[in-house]
Amino acid sequence: MNSTRREFLRDVAVGSAVLGAGGALGTRGAAADGADIPFEAVTKLRARVQGQLVLPGDASYDQSKRVFYWNPQTQRQPVLVVQCGHEDDVIPAIEFARDHALEVAVRSGGHSHLAWGSSDGLVIDLSRLKQITIDPARKIVRAQAGAFGGEVARAAGEYGLVPVLGQCPGVSATGVTLGGGLGWLSGLFGACCDNLLSARLITADAQTLQVNAQSDPDLFWGLRGAGANFGVTTSFEVQLHAIGPVLGGDIHFAVRDARAVLHGFREIMHEAPDGFQATLNLTPGERGLFISLCHSGAESEADNLLKQIRSLAPTVREVIQRQPFAKLAEKAAATNPGNTPAPAFRGIQTVYRDRITDEIIDILIDQLAHAPSDVVMGLSHYMHGAVCRVPSEATAFPHRQAHSVHLRVAFQWSDPADTDRRFAWGEEWLRQLRPKSDERLYANYQTYETEAGSPSLFGSNHSRLLALKIKHDPTNFFHRNANIAARRV
Ligand SMILES: Cc1cc2nc3c(=O)[nH]c(=O)nc-3n(C[C@H](O)[C@H](O)[C@H](O)COP(=O)(O)OP(=O)(O)OC[C@H]3O[C@@H](n4cnc5c(N)ncnc54)[C@H](O)[C@@H]3O)c2cc1C
Repeated sequence: MNSTRREFLRDVAVGSAVLGAGGALGTRGAAADGADIPFEAVTKLRARVQGQLVLPGDASYDQSKRVFYWNPQTQRQPVLVVQCGHEDDVIPAIEFARDHALEVAVRSGGHSHLAWGSSDGLVIDLSRLKQITIDPARKIVRAQAGAFGGEVARAAGEYGLVPVLGQCPGVSATGVTLGGGLGWLSGLFGACCDNLLSARLITADAQTLQVNAQSDPDLFWGLRGAGANFGVTTSFEVQLHAIGPVLGGDIHFAVRDARAVLHGFREIMHEAPDGFQATLNLTPGERGLFISLCHSGAESEADNLLKQIRSLAPTVREVIQRQPFAKLAEKAAATNPGNTPAPAFRGIQTVYRDRITDEIIDILIDQLAHAPSDVVMGLSHYMHGAVCRVPSEATAFPHRQAHSVHLRVAFQWSDPADTDRRFAWGEEWLRQLRPKSDERLYANYQTYETEAGSPSLFGSNHSRLLALKIKHDPTNFFHRNANIAARRV
């Protein structure tokens, strides 16, 4: 059952609420099918926007509705896609959705794990807004919502500066930052959201706000970790940092050495200096087992880390070089090897665990033995350094426990007949790896709902966020996201 707006307000008023079938409030509730939208209304909207409108039947419709994790469970058929050509195109798009009771999805990079960037209602697509301006004197970048992480890193790199962004060049810098944001440099400079300075936000009632620590400290706090809940961020400013070239690349091992490499990886990461981050990837396919790494710091420290990694097991290949950070930041994420042609479907499951236990290692190795050949499993964002020194309540993004780690399995396929098998495999992986208690979800990696609902996403920040949500978006207009919902009863 999806809760209606009235139920949301009523239930919040009594301190509880009903979660919908998808766990979020009203996820598919209000969407019209488009049949009752007058043609003149669309014509009027078209006259108000600088970008393009895409409707079912248009040549670009199939492309415009697709997002990265597109599969039979996540796919949607929008009534209308507004491809914004100007930041203020968001205003008439919001008004149109409200007037016609259309569910809204907001999309920048389209990399959400649950395909929240698409909808059966109206999609506000900001991916064409790509202006990036660097202020080298203040070490600040101002970027529009559609700028990808790789594009921001390249622009900053021209001035010898680096942003803190995720490890995939095609994820939007906005999307990753609004959900918290963990990347190669988080041990040195914190989460992406710790580096956010301001955001230009268009709210559910189509008001434009410039939000920063002075203008609205409460909303600015909420934007840093739960940001998709409060409106559409059309552009933002983040702090840049000056670092020299980094050591980066991949070290490959034979899959038969997985157990030794996983145990050794855990030991190395436990003592990792702030300037070091590494991701371990396991695939049954030809890419095998490899550690992707980034180090910024003294060469002697890098030499010592490489020596430790090489001693885990015989290496079969190394692609390691000292390089500008931007070059590493533009490299495809392990889960996204840049397949050509792109697969028809992609899926992913992720789990947040507070330690890499022996049991987790055993399960990963066992799962690898049964995995379809397209699967990539991994351990990412080993939590340490600066990101863990920021208190959990300092921003809305709470999951900063040292030595915790994000586990994931990504899979892809093209034959619809394989769909059930892929999902069954992913769900079994998830069943085995989910923690038995104190389950936490990271907003940027949410792939499933917990019994506890959105408190799993926001921990002790949940009550404050709920109050903020009720203040700025009382009807839960923006719900295709890691949604702040009232507590399940
Ligand atoms: C291959 C891959 C690698 C990744 N690597 C990392 C990583 O290293 N670190 C990490 O922390 N995360 C990582 N992620 C997760 C990623 O940060 C999140 O999925 C993020 O939300 C994607 O943002 P997007 O704009 O690309 O996606 P979208 O699907 O467009 O948006 C994601 C969510 O943010 C909302 N949103 C997007 N733009 C706006 C906006 N302008 N205003 C308001 N709300 C908006 C959407 O409504 C949706 O709820 C990765 C994901 C993938 C697929």
